[in-house]
Amino acid sequence: MTSLKNKIDYKNKERIFNTVKEISTEGIIVTDKDVNIMSVNPAFSAITGYSTEDVIGENPRIFASGVHNSDFYATMWSSIHEHGMWEGEIWNKTKSGDIFPERLKIRRVVNEVGETENYIGIFTDISKIKETESHINYISNFDLLTNLPNRYLFEKKLKEHINQNNHNKLIGLLHINFDRFKIINESFGHAVGDFFLQELGSRLESILGEEDILARFTGDEFTILLSTVYKAEEVENRAKKIFQLLNTPLKYKEVEVYVTASIGACVYPNHGNDDETLIKNADIAMAKAKEHDGNTFQFFKASLEKEMSREFTIETYLRNSLIFDEFSIHYQPQIDIHSNKIIGVEALLRWKHPILGHVSPMEFIPIAERTGLIIKIGHWVIEEVCKQIVDWKNRGLPPIKVAINCSPKQFFHPALIENLSKIIERLEISPELIELEITESVSMHDGNRILNTLRKLKRIGIQVSIDDFGRGHSSLSYIKSFPLNTIKIDKLFVQDINDEGNRVIIKTIIEMSHGLGLKVIAEGVESLMELQYLKKQGCDIAQGYLYSKPLTVNQLTVLFNDCKYNGSYYIS
Ligand code: C2E
Ligand code: CA
Ligand code: CA
Repeated sequence: MTSLKNKIDYKNKERIFNTVKEISTEGIIVTDKDVNIMSVNPAFSAITGYSTEDVIGENPRIFASGVHNSDFYATMWSSIHEHGMWEGEIWNKTKSGDIFPERLKIRRVVNEVGETENYIGIFTDISKIKETESHINYISNFDLLTNLPNRYLFEKKLKEHINQNNHNKLIGLLHINFDRFKIINESFGHAVGDFFLQELGSRLESILGEEDILARFTGDEFTILLSTVYKAEEVENRAKKIFQLLNTPLKYKEVEVYVTASIGACVYPNHGNDDETLIKNADIAMAKAKEHDGNTFQFFKASLEKEMSREFTIETYLRNSLIFDEFSIHYQPQIDIHSNKIIGVEALLRWKHPILGHVSPMEFIPIAERTGLIIKIGHWVIEEVCKQIVDWKNRGLPPIKVAINCSPKQFFHPALIENLSKIIERLEISPELIELEITESVSMHDGNRILNTLRKLKRIGIQVSIDDFGRGHSSLSYIKSFPLNTIKIDKLFVQDINDEGNRVIIKTIIEMSHGLGLKVIAEGVESLMELQYLKKQGCDIAQGYLYSKPLTVNQLTVLFNDCKYNGSYYIS
């Protein structure tokens, strides 16, 4: 009875085992006690390419890939003998000779008296998992666009270099940020931008020494670790090499552009003892270099950190400045040199913070521009000026043109035109009463985009002047195609009018502007002598302390009341 039941159980078990073998997606090998293969399953054949007939009677040794040494197999077998099993990753070879990784479990099967009867191996092909693993490993350490190490790997390598450093040497860090790269992306598309980043990556690679490391941190930011530096000047020399690399333009099909870079540097141990501090300090130095309008090298120094922390404080407070109503606008009259008529006023933003006190726009406007806060602030200025125009009208004062400073980010913002049109319509303001002052740096951007915005402004009747002219590099012949009204000569030239070079510049700007039918304003006019010279050269309008400092609304309203005559204002 028992033996019959055993027999049935045995038959049943064998059927079940065979079915398991059939349907298993894991490869199964069964050997006898001498490790000769007795049976394999379909998954085995699918993975290895061997049929059952190919392997029956063979030793699984035929699958050995050559990846592992004899110690590996010895350890495996000793585990099987001692513990009855082994489990691990092993590289084997398919019938066609490809090697592949598998996760393998081997079990020793013993009879009632403990003698080995069989070995069973069960395995899965883990090449897919391995591929994914190595892919993940790659993407967590490398930048996919340039195939350069990323920030994570860079930090790891920098740590290693610091730990191995024997203090005879310095370690140099160069943090490189390409200037105005965003414009390249915007003007030519991201595909071209990406191509240029790859090109820049390989150019940077060309200046690396044997153990130096170049990484791409983000976007257009790259960092170089200079592993063997003995003097800080060597770091600067390397930066010079980078500037030289950029003397050759980047080319893609018919596109050809020159890029410049802002480079910040620091050295270990002078400027920091750990990777985090060093990377931060190279970044601070780079940000400082950027302030100089790019194309600049800057070494880290402790005072920079203070400056940058002031910048950070300003940025933080600036974020809430609109909510807390900390801004006001002062207005500075612009006077027709020949008739003394006030032809307009320039709106100048003032910020008084409860802790910082008065902060100059020279300091906070660049920060607002960099952080994008200028969009909201600039919008507030426009709204405030328009309300003021309405207020003067309600007081029965003659209308006066107000010049509003417009930063490059604001000028290129898609909402500018719409906001302006809406406000002037809502408050029923005549558009000729508003003039936007854009800086010359705007004209460094894509000509078509500038022209597009300028035409839209012209269509709604808003005037435009170029501020700080002469400071940048744009020539009057370049901007002659733009629909503009006025050119403002930068106060830099006016204030040093005894300088022969400045006189020539002023004279030329006036002549050329008049040739183009544009009016000329000289700003920063402080003395009669300056005014006389400007008058002699035919300059149209002057603005400066000689006539009036920027005034509060109340002061200006008093001035208007004092000097209105025949529907206009005349300054005495
Ligand atoms: P800016 O547009 O060149 O403005 C002229 C600056 O020269 C003003 O400085 C003005 O107060 C100053 N100034 C006027 N007359 C004289 C003079 O006779 N001598 C001297 N030495 N300076 C004179 P402020 O008000 O400090 O503004 C500095 C800059 O901040 C402005 O330069 C402008 O670029 C920017 N800014 C001011 N308000 C705004 C604004 O609402 N939006 C934007 N985007 N920028 C603004
Ligand atoms: Ca201005
Ligand atoms: Ca100016």
